[in-house]
Amino acid sequence: MTTPSRTVPGFINAHTHIYSALAPYGMPPAAPPPENFVQILERVWWRLDRALDERSLRASARLYAAESLLYGTTTLIDHQESPAFIEGSLDVLADACQEFGIRAVLCYGATDRNGGREEGRRGLAECRRFLRANHRPLVRGVVGLHASFTCSDETLHEAGEVARELDTVVHVHMAEDRADVEDARKRGYEGPLERLLATEALPPGSIMAHGVHLEPSQVRMAESQGLWLVQNPRSNEGNRVGYASSLWVSGRVALGTDGWEADMPREFAALERLSAGSVHEEVDAAARRLVTGRVLAAERFAGAPGEPGLEGDQVVYAAGEGDQPAQVSRVTVAGQVVVDQGRLVRGDIEELRAQAREEAQKLWPRMAAL
Ligand SMILES: [Zn+2]
Repeated sequence: MTTPSRTVPGFINAHTHIYSALAPYGMPPAAPPPENFVQILERVWWRLDRALDERSLRASARLYAAESLLYGTTTLIDHQESPAFIEGSLDVLADACQEFGIRAVLCYGATDRNGGREEGRRGLAECRRFLRANHRPLVRGVVGLHASFTCSDETLHEAGEVARELDTVVHVHMAEDRADVEDARKRGYEGPLERLLATEALPPGSIMAHGVHLEPSQVRMAESQGLWLVQNPRSNEGNRVGYASSLWVSGRVALGTDGWEADMPREFAALERLSAGSVHEEVDAAARRLVTGRVLAAERFAGAPGEPGLEGDQVVYAAGEGDQPAQVSRVTVAGQVVVDQGRLVRGDIEELRAQAREEAQKLWPRMAAL
């Protein structure tokens, strides 16, 4: 039996972390093993991000951009953190995305967690600098915040101010774990969504990753404010934070991989598996999340003169034999062929993997020393 060749719109990865692309190249396990979400952050990701420098970030970005295209993903909505290399970090990501021809929406996730308000200010300044300077046709900037629980009210408010000043939106983690909700309550707010709204940190169109611990009424409120939510089912399962069961009440929910490889059909398969036991409204809504992601991407790429739009972003699957999974054969972004006959057009994937391996070997000792 042969399956015919077919063409589908390019996939959107609506929340990811390009900076973690070296992790599959031998990142040592956390010791002692983390027992909860905050320990996972403290012992793994908040050590990795502090160990990143320009070279390791460039190797991550070039590998992740290239591999994403090979999976048929044509837009990445990224959330960057590298506290030892803040200024200029977004240019490293943007250059890699433009080099291989993938669309990207970039931000630096400002936080006060290592260096207080000054660190938060530097993160927001990097967003502002990048938003003003970037003219790469495939790349857009937004303003980033790590999450409510690692930011002061002042940093949250300033993020909203910068976004309004530059006519853009904010990208932030929202109620990923119960710890985020508890932190907001301790500060006197109903929850992190209410805190971000009270500090005017969320202009309409802003992007909130996760929403695992939001109530349906809160998800409805987010939709009424024009806000996006992004579900990341494999990450939520891996971090044991729960299933985001309230998201179906909003029509503005997309799908992301939260740092996992940008294989959207695979992420979608995980979503189907994990949503299977949910109410039928959730199962129906989950089925639309890849499509909805295209609406989110179109919002961020709208309005620029000469912008070719998203209709030029396509994936052709080769005709297949028997039970073989469909193979990505050709990918076009903004009308340009960037993957042809299953191969990257503007680079050699094996060379990029070799560079990633080399940088990873230097990264793990730095991470261990922190
Ligand atoms: Zn994330």
